[in-house]
Amino acid sequence: MLKIYNSLTRDKQDFVPITPGRVRLYVCGMTVYDHIHMGGARMLVAFDVVQRWLRASGYDVTYVRNITDIDDKIIKRAQENGEEVETLTARFIAAMNEDSAALGVEKPDFEPRATEHVPGMQEMIRQLETRGLAYRASNGDVNYSVRKFPGYGRLSGKSLEDLRAGERVEVELSKQDPLDFVLWKKAKEGEPAWDSPWGKGRPGWHIECSVMSSALLGNHFDIHGGGQDLQFPHHENEIAQSEGANQSKFVNTWMHNGFVRVDNEKMSKSLGNFFTVREVLRRYDPEVVRFFIVRAHYRSPLNYSDHHLDDARQALTRLYTALKGVAAATGKIDWKHPVAARFHEAMDDDFNTPEAVAVLFDLANELNKSRSEGDAALLKSLAATLGLLQRDPQQFLQALPAGDGLTPDAIDALIAARAAARTAKNFAEADRIRDELLKSGITLEDSSKGTLWRRS
Ligand SMILES: [Zn+2]
Repeated sequence: MLKIYNSLTRDKQDFVPITPGRVRLYVCGMTVYDHIHMGGARMLVAFDVVQRWLRASGYDVTYVRNITDIDDKIIKRAQENGEEVETLTARFIAAMNEDSAALGVEKPDFEPRATEHVPGMQEMIRQLETRGLAYRASNGDVNYSVRKFPGYGRLSGKSLEDLRAGERVEVELSKQDPLDFVLWKKAKEGEPAWDSPWGKGRPGWHIECSVMSSALLGNHFDIHGGGQDLQFPHHENEIAQSEGANQSKFVNTWMHNGFVRVDNEKMSKSLGNFFTVREVLRRYDPEVVRFFIVRAHYRSPLNYSDHHLDDARQALTRLYTALKGVAAATGKIDWKHPVAARFHEAMDDDFNTPEAVAVLFDLANELNKSRSEGDAALLKSLAATLGLLQRDPQQFLQALPAGDGLTPDAIDALIAARAAARTAKNFAEADRIRDELLKSGITLEDSSKGTLWRRS
């Protein structure tokens, strides 16, 4: 039975879907004004593993991950660049799709954009007004009144007083309570704006997710996920909006992935220890980056360093080396097989990927001895549920490691030169080329099929 840690109740619970056999999953996606960084990559990969495992477990999954395409940061960046908001967001949506595809992240079933759901947001704000939960502030914004919603603070496990004291909220004269948040922002000169009962303006960030999740999954659904930094205030505010407007339960299970840290500090733009996925992919194979993320538990902090990525590369190389030279047809997994059963048990324990990856290593050790097609097929099939080990091992083992070193074409040219030297019986030259390759970390293996190479 699948158990999931629920941030709302702060414990691991048996997962029971609202509709048997179906899972409705919503995850807060990207605000598209820049390239995604490692924190974003972690969120994408963590919930990709969740949706893959739910599907592997036989559930009919509807996975929604939104795109925030209107927001203060987007407007500011577009103004700085002197371009239209739509041009900026289109460019970074395309870049996000490229980066997530490189990391093996499958497309969600729905990817709603905030700007497509503005009428629904206005409708929810109207409902909140009717129920006395929203008010027009002196500055023209419409705010949510947190004091009127009795459950406010439940997800954070804190009272209003604790939150006010602990979260350093800004005191604004237009707000009745410092924790009140904006539902509808009055338009400023030159900003994108929509007509509304409250005048020209645009939606606040929190209302987006309440409305887009309801529109695609219904008012009550199974799992809502996102990065740990969204738990307060974003997800707290989503609950206040959705439950306040619909007068019914919003989400059963809340899941939050941990931060990415650099030398035990949170990775963030303000600290300047910030890496985009693109920067990292210039130096590391995308599957190495995915493996680095997957082998940590999604709730643990993930410590980013070259050392950890180098280590991930070595570990993944061991798995691919075990698969090399054995035919491995992927297919249906027999979950009664003791190794598969261990893997299943690990994943059912709140997506315990470190334990599941340990099972893959045990199986790879077995395969190194047995060289059996059955073991190879099982290794590849289990790894597929994590989105790993699906490439031709030879191709992975030859992939360029660190931006420097020889390209496969250059290596092939040297191998051809060595073969020509040998044909001409110039063995000194042939040996010199072999040594030159060895110095660049390339080991040659002469076989009946010709000369193969791998990076050592
Ligand atoms: Zn959200």
